[in-house]
Amino acid sequence: MLTFEDKKALAVKGEDCFILAECFFDRAFSRPTYFFNQRGRSAGSAHLQKNLIKFNPILYLQNKAIFIEHVVAHEIAHLITYQLYGKVKPHGKEWQQIMTQVFHLPANTTHQLDITDVQGKLFTYRCSCSQHQLTIRRHNNIKKGTRYLCRKCKSTLVFSEQEN
Ligand SMILES: [Zn+2]
Ligand SMILES: [Zn+2]
Repeated sequence: MLTFEDKKALAVKGEDCFILAECFFDRAFSRPTYFFNQRGRSAGSAHLQKNLIKFNPILYLQNKAIFIEHVVAHEIAHLITYQLYGKVKPHGKEWQQIMTQVFHLPANTTHQLDITDVQGKLFTYRCSCSQHQLTIRRHNNIKKGTRYLCRKCKSTLVFSEQEN
Protein backbone atom coordinates (compact mmCIF):
# COMPACT_ATOMS: atom_id res chain seq x y z
CA MET A 1 0.00 0.00 0.00
CA LEU A 2 2.88 2.40 0.68
CA THR A 3 5.18 3.51 -2.09
CA PHE A 4 8.90 2.99 -1.96
CA GLU A 5 9.24 6.75 -1.27
CA ASP A 6 6.92 6.50 1.75
CA LYS A 7 8.83 3.54 3.18
CA LYS A 8 12.11 5.28 2.54
CA ALA A 9 10.92 8.46 4.32
CA LEU A 10 10.08 6.43 7.42
CA ALA A 11 13.34 4.46 7.33
CA VAL A 12 15.43 7.60 6.78
CA LYS A 13 13.76 9.25 9.75
CA GLY A 14 14.42 6.10 11.76
CA GLU A 15 18.09 6.24 10.87
CA ASP A 16 18.22 9.91 11.96
CA CYS A 17 16.85 8.84 15.35
CA PHE A 18 19.45 6.10 15.73
CA ILE A 19 22.29 8.45 14.88
CA LEU A 20 21.06 10.94 17.50
CA ALA A 21 20.89 8.15 20.07
CA GLU A 22 24.34 6.86 19.16
CA CYS A 23 25.83 10.32 19.62
CA PHE A 24 24.00 10.84 22.89
CA PHE A 25 24.86 7.50 24.46
CA ASP A 26 28.20 7.06 22.68
CA ARG A 27 27.47 3.49 21.68
CA ALA A 28 26.04 1.58 18.74
CA PHE A 29 22.48 0.30 18.51
CA SER A 30 21.34 -2.49 16.26
CA ARG A 31 18.90 -1.39 13.58
CA PRO A 32 15.42 -2.84 13.38
CA THR A 33 13.56 -4.25 10.43
CA TYR A 34 10.66 -2.07 9.36
CA PHE A 35 7.29 -3.46 8.44
CA PHE A 36 4.37 -1.49 7.09
CA ASN A 37 1.51 -3.75 8.08
CA GLN A 38 0.37 -2.45 11.47
CA ARG A 39 -3.40 -2.79 11.62
CA GLY A 40 -6.10 -1.31 13.82
CA ARG A 41 -5.85 2.04 15.57
CA SER A 42 -2.19 1.92 16.52
CA ALA A 43 0.12 4.20 14.60
CA GLY A 44 2.88 1.71 15.07
CA SER A 45 4.37 -0.86 17.38
CA ALA A 46 7.84 -1.87 18.48
CA HIS A 47 8.62 -5.55 18.89
CA LEU A 48 11.54 -5.59 21.27
CA GLN A 49 12.94 -9.12 21.11
CA LYS A 50 12.44 -9.36 17.35
CA ASN A 51 13.89 -5.86 16.91
CA LEU A 52 11.25 -4.77 14.46
CA ILE A 53 8.89 -1.86 14.06
CA LYS A 54 5.51 -1.98 12.39
CA PHE A 55 3.94 1.17 10.98
CA ASN A 56 0.27 1.54 10.15
CA PRO A 57 0.07 2.32 6.41
CA ILE A 58 -3.48 3.70 6.50
CA LEU A 59 -2.71 6.11 9.33
CA TYR A 60 0.62 7.04 7.80
CA LEU A 61 -0.99 8.13 4.54
CA GLN A 62 -3.37 10.43 6.41
CA ASN A 63 -0.87 11.73 8.95
CA LYS A 64 2.51 11.76 7.26
CA ALA A 65 3.89 14.78 9.12
CA ILE A 66 2.99 13.38 12.55
CA PHE A 67 4.60 10.06 11.67
CA ILE A 68 7.82 11.70 10.54
CA GLU A 69 7.89 14.12 13.48
CA HIS A 70 6.74 11.85 16.24
CA VAL A 71 5.64 8.27 15.60
CA VAL A 72 8.97 7.04 14.23
CA ALA A 73 10.88 8.47 17.20
CA HIS A 74 8.30 7.09 19.63
CA GLU A 75 8.74 3.53 18.37
CA ILE A 76 12.50 3.76 18.05
CA ALA A 77 12.72 5.08 21.60
CA HIS A 78 11.15 1.76 22.66
CA LEU A 79 13.86 -0.24 20.90
CA ILE A 80 16.64 1.93 22.27
CA THR A 81 15.18 1.67 25.77
CA TYR A 82 15.19 -2.11 25.41
CA GLN A 83 18.75 -2.26 24.10
CA LEU A 84 19.94 -0.04 26.95
CA TYR A 85 17.89 -1.21 29.90
CA GLY A 86 16.21 -4.48 28.97
CA LYS A 87 12.65 -4.98 30.04
CA VAL A 88 11.37 -1.87 31.81
CA LYS A 89 8.01 -0.08 31.75
CA PRO A 90 7.10 0.71 28.12
CA HIS A 91 6.58 4.44 28.67
CA GLY A 92 8.57 4.74 31.89
CA LYS A 93 11.32 7.17 32.79
CA GLU A 94 13.91 5.50 30.53
CA TRP A 95 11.72 5.85 27.45
CA GLN A 96 10.71 9.39 28.47
CA GLN A 97 14.34 10.40 28.84
CA ILE A 98 15.11 9.26 25.30
CA MET A 99 12.12 11.12 23.89
CA THR A 100 12.86 14.40 25.67
CA GLN A 101 16.66 14.48 25.98
CA VAL A 102 17.74 12.61 22.86
CA PHE A 103 14.95 13.41 20.41
CA HIS A 104 13.77 16.69 22.02
CA LEU A 105 10.16 15.60 21.67
CA PRO A 106 7.33 15.58 24.19
CA ALA A 107 7.05 12.19 25.86
CA ASN A 108 3.34 11.85 25.33
CA THR A 109 1.89 8.48 24.59
CA THR A 110 -1.35 9.45 22.92
CA HIS A 111 -1.41 10.61 19.37
CA GLN A 112 -3.64 13.10 17.58
CA LEU A 113 -4.08 11.05 14.46
CA ASP A 114 -7.08 11.01 12.23
CA ILE A 115 -8.30 7.46 12.77
CA THR A 116 -11.65 7.64 10.99
CA ASP A 117 -10.57 5.17 8.33
CA VAL A 118 -9.39 2.51 10.74
CA GLN A 119 -12.16 2.60 13.30
CA GLY A 120 -13.96 -0.47 12.08
CA LYS A 121 -12.54 -3.70 13.38
CA LEU A 122 -10.80 -5.77 10.77
CA PHE A 123 -10.48 -9.52 10.78
CA THR A 124 -7.51 -11.24 9.29
CA TYR A 125 -8.17 -14.17 7.03
CA ARG A 126 -5.74 -16.32 5.14
CA CYS A 127 -5.92 -18.01 1.79
CA SER A 128 -3.26 -20.21 0.19
CA CYS A 129 -1.30 -17.24 -1.12
CA SER A 130 -1.66 -14.30 1.29
CA GLN A 131 -3.63 -12.49 3.98
CA HIS A 132 -6.90 -10.63 3.65
CA GLN A 133 -8.41 -8.00 5.95
CA LEU A 134 -12.16 -8.44 6.14
CA THR A 135 -14.72 -6.11 7.66
CA ILE A 136 -17.00 -7.17 10.49
CA ARG A 137 -19.84 -7.48 7.96
CA ARG A 138 -18.01 -10.08 5.88
CA HIS A 139 -16.75 -11.80 9.00
CA ASN A 140 -20.33 -12.20 10.23
CA ASN A 141 -21.43 -13.47 6.82
CA ILE A 142 -18.76 -16.14 7.01
CA LYS A 143 -19.94 -17.16 10.46
CA LYS A 144 -23.40 -17.63 8.92
CA GLY A 145 -21.98 -19.83 6.19
CA THR A 146 -20.90 -17.54 3.35
CA ARG A 147 -17.64 -18.55 1.69
CA TYR A 148 -15.27 -15.98 0.26
CA LEU A 149 -12.62 -17.04 -2.21
CA CYS A 150 -9.28 -15.39 -2.88
CA ARG A 151 -9.41 -13.89 -6.36
CA LYS A 152 -5.84 -14.88 -7.05
CA CYS A 153 -5.48 -18.43 -5.76
CA LYS A 154 -9.22 -19.33 -5.58
CA SER A 155 -8.87 -20.95 -2.16
CA THR A 156 -11.40 -20.32 0.64
CA LEU A 157 -10.52 -17.61 3.14
CA VAL A 158 -9.92 -19.03 6.61
CA PHE A 159 -10.09 -16.99 9.81
CA SER A 160 -6.69 -16.14 11.25
CA GLU A 161 -6.93 -13.45 13.93
CA GLN A 162 -8.86 -10.47 15.16
CA GLU A 163 -7.35 -7.04 15.28
CA ASN A 164 -8.47 -4.43 17.79
ZN1 LIG B 1 4.81 3.48 22.93
ZN1 LIG C 1 -4.87 -16.35 -2.36
